[in-house]
Amino acid sequence: MKDRNSAIKKLMDFVYLFEDYLHSGYRRNHPEFELPPVDSTISPEVKMSENTKLTGIKKRIQTCTLCYLHYNRKNALAGGGSENPDIVIVGGGPNEEEDNAGEGFAGMAGNYLKKWIDAIHFSLPEQCFICNIVRCRSPQNREPRIEEIKSCLPYFDEQIMVLNPKVILALGRIPGQVLSGDFSKEVDELRNLSFDYKGIPLVITYHPDSVLQDSNLRKPVWEDLKKLSKIVEKRTGSQ
Ligand code: SF4
Repeated sequence: MKDRNSAIKKLMDFVYLFEDYLHSGYRRNHPEFELPPVDSTISPEVKMSENTKLTGIKKRIQTCTLCYLHYNRKNALAGGGSENPDIVIVGGGPNEEEDNAGEGFAGMAGNYLKKWIDAIHFSLPEQCFICNIVRCRSPQNREPRIEEIKSCLPYFDEQIMVLNPKVILALGRIPGQVLSGDFSKEVDELRNLSFDYKGIPLVITYHPDSVLQDSNLRKPVWEDLKKLSKIVEKRTGSQ
């Protein structure tokens, strides 16, 4: 059985590599991709069963085989952090380090992200929940495909419904494009526009890895973090 699974995995890796060669993976301009309809209401049922619901979603993610990415993973990342967060932080898909660790934003990117959150006087993980748009690692770290995103996004939607954060922070192009629904723009443009996702304000900025590679991005990230902090402050005051 183990040998059979290993053979299937190798075969799928090869298929993915070949497909990537043909199509260059997921890029942009996918008019066929439609986000689920906006529903900002949270039912009393969901609120009442908050913990069970989060645990239930986690179990389903960890055993999910809805798309081919499950052949490639060591761990499906269910996400983690506060169960009553001010901020939900979302990345694209796990890299090898995160797949091995079983948690998002592991290593240098995670340490850097913690500094960002500290700088605006919030604490990670106490006031944040971290997750990804897709929960399983792609072969060769290629970008997730649209069908994989479509398979996985309902988990994010369910978690958002339960967590009901004050703001969502999307880090990088994939979460920025998927959650804004605008696949024609890069982070440089998206970060200057206003969006919400299911009625929750959405702030889009660069991924910590990008900022580690290009220090010119520090200033725009700082502006975005200040914007995020003001949104939380405003929404806290209005509750
Ligand atoms: S990427 Fe998402 S939809 Fe695909 S197998 Fe993993 S958890 Fe399931």
